[in-house]
Amino acid sequence: MTDSFGREITYMRISVTDLCNLRCRYCMPAEGVVKKNHDDIMSEDEIINAIEAASELGISKIRFTGGEPLVKKNIVSICRRTSEIPGIKEICITTNGILLPNFADSLRLAGVERVNISLDTLRPERYSYITRGGSLNDAVKGIESAIRTGFRVKINAVIIGGFNDDEISGLAGLTMNDDIDIRFIELMPMTETVTAGNFVASRKILDVLPDIEPLESDGVAEMYRLKNARGRIGFISPVSDSFCQKCNRIRLTADGYLKPCLHSAAEIFIRHKSREEMKNLIADAIISKPERHMLNENYHTDSLRTMNRIGG
Ligand code: SAM
Ligand code: SF4
Repeated sequence: MTDSFGREITYMRISVTDLCNLRCRYCMPAEGVVKKNHDDIMSEDEIINAIEAASELGISKIRFTGGEPLVKKNIVSICRRTSEIPGIKEICITTNGILLPNFADSLRLAGVERVNISLDTLRPERYSYITRGGSLNDAVKGIESAIRTGFRVKINAVIIGGFNDDEISGLAGLTMNDDIDIRFIELMPMTETVTAGNFVASRKILDVLPDIEPLESDGVAEMYRLKNARGRIGFISPVSDSFCQKCNRIRLTADGYLKPCLHSAAEIFIRHKSREEMKNLIADAIISKPERHMLNENYHTDSLRTMNRIGG
């Protein structure tokens, strides 16, 4: 389905839980989140209903995210049922990778083709700091298991001034020997701990990587390759180069709200509805998708949720 600005909306990102086994400083509060009642989050059947309704409107790609999607007990079953929905061509997961060694095989069998794994640093003490207690070794084992299982793997790295901006070359170097993508994501102001002072624009990251050749862009990511590298490097620049004209996605939160735009306060509640009602509400969300967000003007998001409660 096409939105009011001529964009074809084909992609839905679904947060299956707000909960997480890490507490990244730029994503969620130190105290974590209050666990919701079972009844206050979308059930497996409701998620599947929403995907079926969305697929009838032309959504063909689903990404499961969170919070941490692999802490959701029935994630494998949700993926398997999604893969059986006609019209759904691609199922992806965004994960911190910690639990991937336990899940990689069953997710692959359930129809997941791609995993994006978050990794902001290659230094154990920094990893523990930014995730408030996570183990780099566990994340690396997750990445290794994803590659071994045959997923198409992308690493997401958020570059934060004064924290990991000295690791850009090292992170980019992960693409030399493996056919994986690393995507540098600009830091967005989703929590009070993020300030404009920590923001690093993609072009500054590019400056650190002189031996790099441009490739065709991939969705909202500008793509490059290091000389002789097997994998690719992507830049996702929601702040410095608002890519809203290319945006093809809507989001569904774990508590059942559609978000037409990550950075808008607008939300549409779709729980406790018939399939037809759900479908109409999803169509409303697509039609009401704003033309653009204003992050680049004032480094402020209008969203009322931290990232773990939206699904990045
Ligand atoms: N737990 C999973 C993970 O970390 O990959 C999935 C959920 S997480 C919210 C999805 C993505 O959002 C991660 O790649 C994370 O780095 C990114 N993210 C979270 N907060 C962000 C922020 N303030 N700015 C930019 N990216 C952010
Ligand atoms: Fe958890 Fe992912 Fe947010 Fe980190 S970025 S706190 S792993 S949801």
